[in-house]
Amino acid sequence: MQVSCRAVERLMLMTGDAYLASLRDGRALYVGSERVDDVTSHPGFAPTARSFARIWDARRDPSYPELISEEKGESFATYYLMPRSREDLEKRSRCSEIIAELSYGLLGRSPDFVGGYITGAAMQAHLFDHGEHRFSTNVTAYLQHCRRNDLYLAHAVAPPQGTRDPAKYGRDSQAVPTLSVTGAYEGGVIVNGMKMLATGAAFAHELWIGNILPLAPEQRAASITCALAVNTPGLSLWSRKPYAAHGEGTFENPLSTHFDESDCVVVCRDVKVPWERVFTIDDVAWSRAIYFDTPAHTLSNHQSSVRYRAKTRLLLALARRITEAMGTDKVPQVRDALNHLSAQDALIATLIAGQIQGFETLPGGFTCFDRRAMYASIYWATQNYDTLCSSVRELMGGSVLQMPANIGVLDCPETADTFEANWAGNGWAARDRMKLFKLAWDLLGTDFAGRHAQYERFYMGPAFVVREHIGRETDWDAVLRPLDDLLASYDVGGIAETVGRASALSSAAMSTDGV
Ligand SMILES: Cc1cc2nc3c(=O)[nH]c(=O)nc-3n(C[C@H](O)[C@H](O)[C@H](O)COP(=O)(O)OP(=O)(O)OC[C@H]3O[C@@H](n4cnc5c(N)ncnc54)[C@H](O)[C@@H]3O)c2cc1C
Repeated sequence: MQVSCRAVERLMLMTGDAYLASLRDGRALYVGSERVDDVTSHPGFAPTARSFARIWDARRDPSYPELISEEKGESFATYYLMPRSREDLEKRSRCSEIIAELSYGLLGRSPDFVGGYITGAAMQAHLFDHGEHRFSTNVTAYLQHCRRNDLYLAHAVAPPQGTRDPAKYGRDSQAVPTLSVTGAYEGGVIVNGMKMLATGAAFAHELWIGNILPLAPEQRAASITCALAVNTPGLSLWSRKPYAAHGEGTFENPLSTHFDESDCVVVCRDVKVPWERVFTIDDVAWSRAIYFDTPAHTLSNHQSSVRYRAKTRLLLALARRITEAMGTDKVPQVRDALNHLSAQDALIATLIAGQIQGFETLPGGFTCFDRRAMYASIYWATQNYDTLCSSVRELMGGSVLQMPANIGVLDCPETADTFEANWAGNGWAARDRMKLFKLAWDLLGTDFAGRHAQYERFYMGPAFVVREHIGRETDWDAVLRPLDDLLASYDVGGIAETVGRASALSSAAMSTDGV
């Protein structure tokens, strides 16, 4: 508690209001042809901006000391902490848990996500000195910059289809307008082109631009990794439809109004990137390896598991309350379905704990979550989100669509009386049931819900890419050893004389079997 108060007093950390003010920075954000001048007052963005601001305000809550860390007398957000022990990893995990719970897991790219990228990169900064390039000090200085200015980073690291490695994607590389280096100026390089799909960018201060999907070998110009302030001249964000602007309001669409983190294509026109903000250049393999040779990908995606858990909690709680409101909660088959959902929630919790339990120690004394466990956790999550949602939808039946269009039904005495008389039930007032079912539909049936289904499936890339990560982190020698020992322990003539665990075990088994 003491640490938290002292840290806040140093005021390197913003308040929620200061964070909101910092977003009024002249950024170029487009919704169709409309230029949004101020995300903190635009109806499509303002409620979510305030949801993000709660993350900054939560640091002043003494019950959340894990949100702040200190080093050499400086305080900073814990997602910029370079972990050196299991306790540090637990602190990072708890920090993400607090942040995720503030949005019920609905803000996927909260600042702790890309915060993990730059922190993990700085933990193995020497990997940014490569060939003729010396960018390690850029990486460590950028981490300091993010810490000291309390920055929120979003990222755009998916080069568009047509630029990717034909060996993996089965199609030739094409001249698509992917973000690439097109020139130089005395202080750095000039970039042009577009990058998909920077979730949270409308609410972030800076963007990490890079390539986490395998680029085609000839896309060297696109292989730049760099950081850019969102309001950099020439940079614009092109948002998909903001759901808050198209919903009915908080009562009818509580989630899509307040937790729509936005997804934006990033377009650069003659944007200047100073050398200090360049982290890789001119090397396709290097631009991708930095995420896996450093702990960057693992630190950031531990957040993904923790965030997902907050969402499974919400789904489980919703399922339980819905069945209560429908009066089906005593039906044995319905209770069985709820217990099944509870098992899924517990499973994801253990997958998170496993990432801490199996932590690794890295050169320099740093620690990192168990990488294979992290990818396995993400894989499970990406493959099971639809199933979890459809289990809850199964329990909801049609009741969710029997609710009146909006709560305006209470404004007129005639409709209000009819509503109260017919929509109440199972100990629930009509208004409360409507509130619950509107929330359920917002999570499971609206535009916002569909976007979440797509997000959970693709935020780490398509499934085959996630499986590839797991394969890369598998210690195949350790997997194969018991089998190879077993095979070596017998032959045509019977049990081999080799010494070893498997051979001893098989020796006992085989002698009873008479093999
Ligand atoms: C809601 C949402 C938010 C996102 N947020 C971010 C973000 O914050 N930052 C960011 O950088 N990116 C983000 N992304 C982008 C994301 O990284 C990409 O969508 C993802 O990598 C998949 O790329 P793609 O959309 O081009 O799909 P594709 O690569 O085109 O794949 C689509 C489908 O095609 C099939 N397919 C294609 N190639 C193969 C193959 N070789 N083998 C087998 N099947 C194949 C598969 O069915 C695959 O699922 C986001 C995406 C979504 C949907």
